[in-house]
Amino acid sequence: AAQTMEQLVSLCKRRGFIFPGSAVYGGLQGTYDYGPLGVELKNNLKLAWWRANVWEREDMEGIDAAILMNKLTWRYSGHEETFVDPMVDCKNCKMRWRADQISGKCPNCASTELTEPRPFNLMFKTQIGPVPDPESFSYLRPETAQGIFVNFKHVLDSTSRKLPFGIAQIGKAFRNEITPRNFIFRVREFEQMEIEFFVRPGEDEAWHEKWVEDRINWWLSVGLSRQNLEPYHQKPEELAHYAKATVDLLYRFPHGLEELEGIANRTDYDLGSHSKDQGALGLRARVSPNSHSTDKLTYFDPETKQHVVPFVIEPSAGVDRGVLALLSEAYAEEQVKPAPADRLKPVQEALGTFLKSVGRNDKIPAQAKEALLAEGERIAQALGERLPSITGLLSMPGVESIEVAKKLRGQVDPVVDEFYRTVLHFKPHLAPIKVAVLPLKKNHPEIVSTAKSIRRKLQSTGAMRIVYDDTGAIGKLYRRQDEIGTPFCITVDFDTLGEGNDTALKNTVTVRHRDSMAQERVAISELETWLREKMQS
Ligand code: ATP
Repeated sequence: AAQTMEQLVSLCKRRGFIFPGSAVYGGLQGTYDYGPLGVELKNNLKLAWWRANVWEREDMEGIDAAILMNKLTWRYSGHEETFVDPMVDCKNCKMRWRADQISGKCPNCASTELTEPRPFNLMFKTQIGPVPDPESFSYLRPETAQGIFVNFKHVLDSTSRKLPFGIAQIGKAFRNEITPRNFIFRVREFEQMEIEFFVRPGEDEAWHEKWVEDRINWWLSVGLSRQNLEPYHQKPEELAHYAKATVDLLYRFPHGLEELEGIANRTDYDLGSHSKDQGALGLRARVSPNSHSTDKLTYFDPETKQHVVPFVIEPSAGVDRGVLALLSEAYAEEQVKPAPADRLKPVQEALGTFLKSVGRNDKIPAQAKEALLAEGERIAQALGERLPSITGLLSMPGVESIEVAKKLRGQVDPVVDEFYRTVLHFKPHLAPIKVAVLPLKKNHPEIVSTAKSIRRKLQSTGAMRIVYDDTGAIGKLYRRQDEIGTPFCITVDFDTLGEGNDTALKNTVTVRHRDSMAQERVAISELETWLREKMQS
């Protein structure tokens, strides 16, 4: 697993997983853009979730609701009034912080002179329509859940579902976070994968427990390890006003143990809040009187012949936090063979010179410098294991162009190439690219055309992304694919053409496994079936 966020940020930028948003204009805090590999990884994660929760269950339907909703939604959901974080200002440097994330001290200037916390609403307000009428506004949704609640009756009527059943949705959500930070962990625009699972009152507690278990198992199925995942039962005083119980699934991210998903028992609060004639519904939750709703969001129980307001169990996960967890879990810097001391020594010296020079450099912003020096020290302490991380240090902003950095890179690159590799050990079904087809020689027409036709044929199955790559020698190509987590490389060589020593190998290729680096020979005609089997989990 990754030891620091810097390792991930650097790999993500270098190889095209995730870039800082709006970079050419100096960036926009709290936004990130997913690059060519990031979009594949994110789509694979969402597809795995959708498959497990919608396709493979018999008690779930999916929807995709609008991001913009009638502003009354946000009044009756409680968001206008209570979707707030406590904000404090530092009287010294004027920076703003979320009071519950700092311990009485400004993280920027260490001053303890802070204002009293005051509520700050996290919803982005936006004008609807061309007329700047003060009433024509709404909000970008801060969660996808409300789109499900207001569609409860539509789904029920159009599918004839019986309780218990759920509605699942994946989509964007927006929160004007006071202090976005920790890479894609806390951002202002993100995606959620949410389920609202409707059950009979009285069956809610058992379903809540079952969902906690299901969700843990699902995160394990995408490759997170049990020791990095911790369920946390919220204490009564921590519960949101609508929740009867909430279990957070915490993940050991590089920056600490933090929430990946929340699974709440929301009782009949949501359907009750959005209903008319609330007095007649026998609601358990305390809701604000609703004078605008046009419908009762109830379920007619054919057994008891009564209308009930179902209770809701809500497993709500962040897609971006999921991507971060996958990257962190999968990341490894591995020694392929031990580097001898005489090869490490010049690197150690160049690293020392580099860190001293960075310490004296005023052009690197203070915060970035501090992070860089701390990480540099950690690498120096355990150079044998951490040497490839130097590549990460060198790609930090403002560093690349300085002269000592170029010298250090000159020392590091050949040693990394010879003795180390960075690997993303993704489960095959999540890997952005499943197979890379590589020609042993890029200037041999028959090898190239065979490799390209294998790529085309495998790609035409439509089940996965396959690439062809001839931009380097085979060893280098393997390393590049390891670094982006490609589980299999297929190499076409002279044996494939029947021109090698063993003519029995004609029409076979070498398949190299990312994790073990083991190689085996597979017939071209068997490749598709072989891959499909490997892609199952
Ligand atoms: P936190 O306490 O970390 O702010 P929360 O408890 O407010 O999170 P929920 O409202 O429960 O979060 O949202 C459900 C899920 O949405 C979270 O578990 C998380 O994965 C994701 N999420 C929430 N806010 C953000 C954000 N600013 N950036 C990325 N993901 C987020």
